Amino acid sequence: MELNSWIFAALMAAVPLLILALVFHRGWAVVQGLSITLRHMFSKPVTVQYPEEPVKMAKRYRALHYLARYENGLERCVACGLCSRACPADAIYIEAEQNNPAQPVSAKERFAKRYEIDMLRCIFCGYCEEACPEDAVFLGRQFEITTSTRVGTIYTKEMLLKDA
Ligand code: SF4
Ligand code: SF4
Repeated sequence: MELNSWIFAALMAAVPLLILALVFHRGWAVVQGLSITLRHMFSKPVTVQYPEEPVKMAKRYRALHYLARYENGLERCVACGLCSRACPADAIYIEAEQNNPAQPVSAKERFAKRYEIDMLRCIFCGYCEEACPEDAVFLGRQFEITTSTRVGTIYTKEMLLKDA
């Protein structure tokens, strides 16, 4: 037999083997894909049907701030401005005013006449909470703060103040 005939015969024998290998490879990939689908059909889902189902946040999750009061109702914030200065996003705006001793708003000389946080700027770093010497501002767990207006991102003191 000539050399060319040998090569031709070898190629003819290899073609079916190649086709079989290809089919087996693809078939195996399909089996692998289906096995993943089947496995996940019987495992606990990691997704949550929000908002019908509540979302469980991690312990250290931080979201919208709140301003605290003393048990007697007086505001803890004394408008010192340290939180505002510590904020890397320039998100906190404060206007201070002297307390009227007859009707004090906070426990010290001054109180925050205006206290606003722009949540569009906030990066939830928590520096404000750490900087506060009065334990007045905290990052809470309220995360439902979406809005479709620019002004809706600004949270005023009245919105942030928590009951004692
Ligand atoms: S959490 Fe950070 S970015 Fe947000 S207001 Fe506080 S200091 Fe500013
Ligand atoms: S929240 Fe705390 S740090 Fe910020 S102005 Fe009030 S007392 Fe000062």
